[in-house]
Amino acid sequence: MNIVLFGAPGAGKGTQSALLVERMRMKQISTGDLFRAHVKGQTPLGVKAKSYMDAGQLVPDEIVISMVEEVLEDQQDQNFILDGFPRTVPQAEALESMLKRKGLQIGRALFLEVPMSELMGRLTGRRVCSSCGATYHVTAKPPKAKGICDLCGGILEQRKDDHEEVIQSRLDAYTRSTAPLKSYFADRGMLREVQGMGETEAVYARLTQAMK
Ligand code: AMP
Repeated sequence: MNIVLFGAPGAGKGTQSALLVERMRMKQISTGDLFRAHVKGQTPLGVKAKSYMDAGQLVPDEIVISMVEEVLEDQQDQNFILDGFPRTVPQAEALESMLKRKGLQIGRALFLEVPMSELMGRLTGRRVCSSCGATYHVTAKPPKAKGICDLCGGILEQRKDDHEEVIQSRLDAYTRSTAPLKSYFADRGMLREVQGMGETEAVYARLTQAMK
């Protein structure tokens, strides 16, 4: 089954997607990761996206939509997770028509529910391996050696948009543009809300249950 995974920044989409990739052999399509790769590679798309990302704003719909459309061109049989897309109602509408054209379907839109009061602490404490992308948290999931990835020995960094002022803009964008997707997917019978608080494994168990 193909799924959409959505929720506020810091809700755990990336963490849960990584488990689905590892255990269910799904393919993760993360628009945030794709944009970060473009920014790192200084591609024309990366240059366009960077100023929005640095400000904690959403990249304009037409840019995101054409990037996803390109990725879905290569879609084979492997089930996929749309992680962080769609993030606005126009993106969801565009997704619906592009899936129809390609003969693909989304089985569930899974919403990871985490209270707003929890998100700021999760995001300011997040550290990401600059080499393999593994994520840590300074208190909730610290690496064995400070600043060093347990998995590959890479240097841990703080994402540029994980600083307090930028996080606030990201949370505002979420409330304004992404939260309305709940009723969009509910109206189509696709929405399942998953409690995102608690241990990673407990959230994963609830998430996979909601996919049945
Ligand atoms: P994320 O890693 O999902 O938190 O995304 C990081 C940033 O990439 C966001 O703050 C946006 O600037 C941009 N971005 C990622 N996905 C989308 C999307 N579906 N629509 C608009 N902007 C996006």
